[in-house]
Amino acid sequence: MSRKLRVGWFSFTCCEDSTMVFIELMNEKFFEWRDLLDFRYFRTLKGRNDMTDLDIAFVEGAISNKKEEETVKKIRQNCKKLVAIGSCACTGAPANQRNFFDQSTKEEIQFILDRFEHREKVSQLSDVVKVDDFISGCPMDEKFFLSKLDQYLKEFGLVHA
Ligand code: SF4
Repeated sequence: MSRKLRVGWFSFTCCEDSTMVFIELMNEKFFEWRDLLDFRYFRTLKGRNDMTDLDIAFVEGAISNKKEEETVKKIRQNCKKLVAIGSCACTGAPANQRNFFDQSTKEEIQFILDRFEHREKVSQLSDVVKVDDFISGCPMDEKFFLSKLDQYLKEFGLVHA
């Protein structure tokens, strides 16, 4: 099969455990995915990455600073489908804990927020860009992820429905 699903995998503010779940899944799925998925952008897997013209962008983590905000908007412009991976991407939590700090704690961390150009709030992806689908869990539920991936492969005509 020549055509493969052009995939990007991105991590923002989070612990990256859903990435680890994905890597673990490769122990079982590598040979199947090798013929179906073209990992155009996946920094955990490879050094040379290209985020242009993706079929699907899987995005893990919440958006906490201006650079992340710009990058996720750029990802949105470069993919047909954007899928939020894990609770931090879907809901903001638990990566958004500083949103709920009391006033004195907020004042204590303000210099860090200023230095690294953090946003006032840590946000779930859908507050920043249009999200087409959500795969929740902390980390993501692997069975649900696999069933969604099957669905996307059918949607993009790479396996028969
Ligand atoms: S949803 Fe949970 S596992 Fe995933 S990045 Fe956030 S804290 Fe980590």
